[in-house]
Amino acid sequence: MKAALVWNDELLSYDFGEGHPLRSERCKWGVEEISKIEGLDVIPPRYASEDEIALVHTNEYIEMVRKGLAGDLDTPVSPSLFNPARLSVGATLKGIDLLREGYSLAINVCGGWHHAFENKARGFCIFNDVAIGAKYAQKKGFPKIFIIDWDVHHGDGTQRIFKKDNSVFTMSIHQHPSTQYPYFSGYERENDPTNLNVPILPSEDEQEIMKKVLPLIPRFVEPFKPNLMIVQMGVDGYKGDPMSGIDLSERFYDAVSKTVSRCAKNNDFPVILLGGGGFNFPKTAQLWALIVENFMMEM
Ligand SMILES: [Zn+2]
Repeated sequence: MKAALVWNDELLSYDFGEGHPLRSERCKWGVEEISKIEGLDVIPPRYASEDEIALVHTNEYIEMVRKGLAGDLDTPVSPSLFNPARLSVGATLKGIDLLREGYSLAINVCGGWHHAFENKARGFCIFNDVAIGAKYAQKKGFPKIFIIDWDVHHGDGTQRIFKKDNSVFTMSIHQHPSTQYPYFSGYERENDPTNLNVPILPSEDEQEIMKKVLPLIPRFVEPFKPNLMIVQMGVDGYKGDPMSGIDLSERFYDAVSKTVSRCAKNNDFPVILLGGGGFNFPKTAQLWALIVENFMMEM
């Protein structure tokens, strides 16, 4: 199988500055760990065009990001972040180009910005590359897209963008929103034929969580018959992460990545992995590498 890491050091410019939890050193360490895995091509990203960003975002919003008028306290968007945000989306699109060209697996650690709305920067996310990636992939000949998001925070922007679109399935496994950001969405009552929320309470035992979550993956992926899968591989549910209140271990990330990658192999579709959350350095890097390694072994 052919696998590629989309990366160059320019992506380090997606950084909210000192004192903010989202620092680009997490990507640097992630790339260092992932680069130790044999058989990965490293391919530089490209910039997403404004037309590509407008597959999801409004033109007014894109203009506000350019001028640095779009952020809030959590997500301070200065004008100098416009190009880094465009590049991080372009890294996801480059990954999809590679899947079109015959790669089975692509990775963009500087991606997975699942909280961004079509008109709003939120939760450290400026442009929603998960959703832009899905729309772009459809234009490139992958009509049905399955998005699985195991970041500890609900993939609320992505869910909202595809709420009325049955060609994209959105599945999110996350800490129960009654106890965690984004609080107002991520509940089971929002489920519909192409949206599945699997909230986890901090009191749940890891073995029980895996028993509940893992069988759902083939059960929902297989009947949907996707042509391509986007994985938001956030690892901020790991015990001790400063941005969450659940205590998952390596076992969970090992099992979920094996389950998803076997499902991809059995059903013969390519996968792009997007970094997502993970604020416990350098553990984030080690967990991302574990996930990538499993995909390379199983697919
Ligand atoms: Zn997160």
